[in-house]
Parts: sequence; C-alpha cells; structure tokens
Amino acid sequence: MARMPVRKYRVIGIKNENHNTKTWQITAVNGNNLEFRPGQFVLMYLLDEKGNPAGDVRPYSVSSSPLKHECLEFTIKMTPNFPAKLLDIGIGAEVGIAGPSGVFTLDESHADIVFVVGGVGVAGVSSAVRYVIDKKLPMKMTLFYSCSYAKDFIWLDEFDKMQSENFTFVPVVTRENPEGWKGETQRFSIDILRKYVETPQKAHYYLCGSPGMVSGVEEILKRIGLDRTRIKMEKWTGIGEGG
Ligand SMILES: Cc1cc2nc3c(=O)[nH]c(=O)nc-3n(C[C@H](O)[C@H](O)[C@H](O)COP(=O)(O)OP(=O)(O)OC[C@H]3O[C@@H](n4cnc5c(N)ncnc54)[C@H](O)[C@@H]3O)c2cc1C
Repeated sequence: MARMPVRKYRVIGIKNENHNTKTWQITAVNGNNLEFRPGQFVLMYLLDEKGNPAGDVRPYSVSSSPLKHECLEFTIKMTPNFPAKLLDIGIGAEVGIAGPSGVFTLDESHADIVFVVGGVGVAGVSSAVRYVIDKKLPMKMTLFYSCSYAKDFIWLDEFDKMQSENFTFVPVVTRENPEGWKGETQRFSIDILRKYVETPQKAHYYLCGSPGMVSGVEEILKRIGLDRTRIKMEKWTGIGEGG
C-alpha cells in the first residue's frame, strides 16, 4: 500500500486539560488544513532537524470539530514513549501529519447514538459530539464517559453545559465516590444503560478507549442481544486502563 504523503503542520497552541493530558492545536504550514470526518485519525510523525519524518509515528484522533477550520486539535495523554517526545515540541515547531484515516466515523443517519468511552478515549468521540451540536443535527446523543478518578476527567464543564433534550452527558467515576458527584459511581452496566437510554436495542453505539474497556462494554452490549452492526469501536493501546 502506498504511504500517504506526510504534510508539515505547525504547533500554534498547547492546552493543559488535566494532570496528564494536553491538547495540541496545529495548522498546516501551507495553509490548507486537511478535511476529515468526525472520528477519523491521522498519523503524527516527529520530524528530524531537516524536517523529514524521523521514524517515530503514532495515530491520533482529531478531537476538534470539522467545523473548526482555523486549526486541528489533538488531545493526547502523556505516556512515556511518543507523547513524552511531543513535550519537546513547543509552539512554533513542526510535526508531520498523514491522513485522515479510519472508519470510526459519525454516521449522520443514526438517530439515537450512545457513546461509551474511557479515559482519553473521549478524544475519539469529542469531534462527533461537537459537530452534531454545532451543526444542530437532530439525532439524540448520550455520552457515558468513565474515568478511575475525578481528577482524570477532561471537558466535564463543557459537556455539562452542552446538555439539552437531545444530549445527555453521564460522567462515570469508578474508583472513588467524590462528594457532590453529578453522575454515576459504578462501572458501565446494563442497569446504567437502561437508566439513561429508553430503547437500548434501537441505539447505535460508539466505543472508544483501552482494549480492555472497549471489549468489556462490547460484552455487556452483547448480553442485551444487540445486533453487532449497531456497534462501532476503536481500541487504543498504550493509554493505560482507566484514565
Ligand atoms: C486509531 C487510534 C487513535 C488514537 N487516538 C489517540 C488520541 O486521540 N489520544 C491519545 O492519547 N492516544 C490515542 N491513541 C493511542 C496512541 O496512538 C498511542 O498508542 C499512545 O499515545 C501511547 O503511545 P506510546 O508511545 O506511549 O505507546 P506505544 O509505544 O504506542 O505503545 C502502545 C502499547 O502497545 C504496545 N506495543 C507497542 N508496539 C508493540 C508491538 N509491536 N507488539 C505488541 N505490543 C506493542 C506497548 O507495549 C504499549 O502498551 C490512538 C490509537 C489509535 C489506534
């Protein structure tokens, strides 16, 4: 298979999201930011001093909406290998981007969408959530977002404020019971699903997170006899379990 061309992008902003996750804002050096569908990812390359791909490359999902044209955003958990090297890349430096790729994309014909994500896996569906809300699309969305501890969540306030008749946000914290927590404190289960989704059999599911988390949720959905064609999933290795 031919390798996709690697294009140069410049870092124009870095935001701290929590104690271990940052959002990189980048823009194409030639001014043409790639077009993508919500849920797609790119391959991000580190560049050597001559500006050529240095060999280090990882897939990252675009976390911003395709309607945000001024830059692309990537929300990355700081793990010791590739992401740690990204920390050396300051504002104004360049990375290589190839893509977009991937079929974990929003299907706009789905009328009732349930996102179930764990930890930084939320960045795999945030583009879709933002896009649907910005474009005022009519589908119903429920976002179950699990982390081990309250400190691991990102965008809690943003999702909370987005809630409406069509969008329900359910933060799920699994290893503590923080005072005043507005969400669930038990792992995702059939009971939790039924509490928030009226007809789970008729919904379409988008699962994103560590392989263990995604497989666990898939098993739960199989138990309610859900048709496999109603589930889209993306498993990310290397992000740890939980946050
Ligand atoms: C489609 C997709 C989209 C993603 N989007 C995001 C995102 O938006 N944000 C984010 O934070 N992360 C995302 N990830 C995860 C990301 O690509 C990295 O895996 C993550 O940042 C960890 O990088 P790392 O260099 O620390 O670990 P890696 O070196 O990538 O290792 C990942 C894991 O795989 C194991 N591994 C590596 N190579 C092999 C091998 N050859 N055989 C067996 N096991 C191996 C490692 O031991 C480790 O446990 C995405 C992954 C995929 C597949």
